Amino acid sequence: MMEPNNLLKEQLHLLHLDIINQSFAAKAVEYRKKGLDYVEYLADLVNEQVRHRQNRSLNQRIGAAHFPWIKVVEDFDFAYNKQPSRSTWLDLGQLQFLQKKENVVLIGPPGVGKTHLAISLGVKACEALHRVLFITAADLVTQLNTTKRANLLPDLLSKLSRLDLLIIDELGYLPIDAEEANLFFQVISRKYEKSSLILTTNKPFDEWGEIFKDPVLAAALLDRLLHHAHIIKITGKSYRMKGKEPAKPSIPQPDSPVSNSNPG
Ligand code: ADP
Ligand code: MG
Repeated sequence: MMEPNNLLKEQLHLLHLDIINQSFAAKAVEYRKKGLDYVEYLADLVNEQVRHRQNRSLNQRIGAAHFPWIKVVEDFDFAYNKQPSRSTWLDLGQLQFLQKKENVVLIGPPGVGKTHLAISLGVKACEALHRVLFITAADLVTQLNTTKRANLLPDLLSKLSRLDLLIIDELGYLPIDAEEANLFFQVISRKYEKSSLILTTNKPFDEWGEIFKDPVLAAALLDRLLHHAHIIKITGKSYRMKGKEPAKPSIPQPDSPVSNSNPG
């Protein structure tokens, strides 16, 4: 006959309870020594297994979201620029906008933390077991083009509409041609009132006609995007310049040329 411990190991393995399998014997010794309760012992083991599974599932969700890096709200210095206020952002972090299928649009110049904030909400959504994807507008357009050429556009569109949260970063840095604008419009209109979008852009809405080179399409797109949306305009300085501000010159200088070709 098999040793009870060996039989237990085999059965825990069959049930995929590997964390319990690793620690049940050592914990049994510990609990016996301390004279602790059987139920506490079982609860402790099950708790470890559940936490392990939750971590693994969070890591899988974060991996599937394709964040370029992980940023959290705790690392964001809300005092650096005026918007968004900490309370606005913490409120969004409650994720009610996801339940209500609302969108979040972050507008502002490069370096003010649009991508950081978008990722921080995306990570929170992953923690709350939502399906999230982060993609730059340029990559999205490329993927839409490629799948269209391979006759796989419907697959990509339905994959995108099944997400609970699609984060489109950096709209407006690159021009989009008429066909691409149409594809982009299909993504936005399929998500409209079905699930949420976070979009970051350097361009105010009145310049979107230029991004899409089609004011009518831009207006239709904005209509859907902004119908239920939290619009956050960040003005102020790039965080990349923090601590690098030049000393004030004693002689007035002519304005230096501003480059806006640098993507955030
Ligand atoms: P944007 O997307 O607006 O161009 P990013 O989110 O890429 O800006 O921010 C640029 C860098 O500065 C990132 O490393 C980001 O973490 C950091 N950063 C921006 N704003 C803040 C802030 N207010 N507090 C802390 N870090 C910030
Ligand atoms: Mg950015």
